[in-house]
Amino acid sequence: MRKKLIDILACPMCGHYPLKLVAIQENDDKVVQGILHCQNCGRWYPIRDEIAVMLPDNMRDQKKDDEFYASYEKYFKENGIPRSWQATEK
Ligand SMILES: [Zn+2]
Repeated sequence: MRKKLIDILACPMCGHYPLKLVAIQENDDKVVQGILHCQNCGRWYPIRDEIAVMLPDNMRDQKKDDEFYASYEKYFKENGIPRSWQATEK
């Protein structure tokens, strides 16, 4: 995903933009692996192999989400992004 796309991407569930971009792996002006975080509703969307996977809740693949989170847990924690947007803070 080209970094400047962040200006026009909106959360598919709540419509909020801009999303917060966490780049895990970059290649020039592209993000190869990364996380898009909606700071309004708390959802996150993976960027895998340069593709931003922005799917509504009913089309998300929970297993793939879990694998992605497990692979990049460090980045989620560093940026304060919860694993599940349904989790409530204590
Ligand atoms: Zn949202």
